[in-house]
Amino acid sequence: MKPFECRARVDAVRRLAPEILEADLRLDEPPALEFVAGQWVSVPFGPKTVRAYSIASTPRSPTRLTLCADVAPGGIGSEWFRGLKPGDAVRFKAPLGGFVFSRADPRRPLFVAEEIGIVPIRAILTELYATGFGRPATLAYWARDPGWLAYDAEFGSLARRYPGFVYHPVVAGAGGPARDGAGSLAEAVRSLVADVTGLVAYVSGSESMIHQVRDVLVARGLDRKAVKWEKFW
Ligand SMILES: Cc1cc2nc3c(=O)[nH]c(=O)nc-3n(C[C@H](O)[C@H](O)[C@H](O)COP(=O)(O)OP(=O)(O)OC[C@H]3O[C@@H](n4cnc5c(N)ncnc54)[C@H](O)[C@@H]3O)c2cc1C
Repeated sequence: MKPFECRARVDAVRRLAPEILEADLRLDEPPALEFVAGQWVSVPFGPKTVRAYSIASTPRSPTRLTLCADVAPGGIGSEWFRGLKPGDAVRFKAPLGGFVFSRADPRRPLFVAEEIGIVPIRAILTELYATGFGRPATLAYWARDPGWLAYDAEFGSLARRYPGFVYHPVVAGAGGPARDGAGSLAEAVRSLVADVTGLVAYVSGSESMIHQVRDVLVARGLDRKAVKWEKFW
């Protein structure tokens, strides 16, 4: 799909956590956007400055997109997101990116997300289970504390409704060993994945986490190309 220059208006803004905001954007131009769950929008801030935001909502809502941002980094993108209020006009280019799941792929997916890296995975999982994906899938999701696990209740609910869906939240936790997201997720993947036969991994978050998780899977015998990744930072 060719990306469009899009114009939209902010419909609503919600705070999911002290530093995690969600914004619903009602499209003006084009009036509806065709995209695939997992894709992102590019917001311009100058001739050579853009910030990417994954679409948290699914293609079943093509006229209203939801974006979700961690505004703690505090740069130009965070400040823009923090300032959004209902009625504001926004411009962006979309849809972009290839971090998408193909239903034709018979492999069993393992999703691995570090904090706000959950956004494209939330869109993919919501879309899959809302449209009759009966196959097993696993999500390992790390955050610094439980309050930073955006969409935690949704994943818990999916796991209760679909026995094939394994939800494995990981938090840094008080009193436990002080581990970062990369180390914690590498450890979680090591314990969750005994056999990589027929596996495909979708890994989203920091570059160091992506490397560590991929190293664990490749050491277990997974083909490097079976690890798809989205580097947020
Ligand atoms: C394909 C893609 C999709 C993305 N989707 C989202 C999304 O859905 N939601 C979202 O919040 N961000 C997303 N990002 C990151 C986003 O584009 C910005 O980089 C982020 O909002 C920070 O921008 P900034 O201008 O506020 O800070 P910057 O000035 O760009 O960054 C400040 C510093 O913070 C680091 N950093 C950036 N983000 C994080 C983070 N989350 N945790 C820790 N350190 C960080 C940067 O590496 C840099 O060192 C995505 C990035 C990519 C490439």
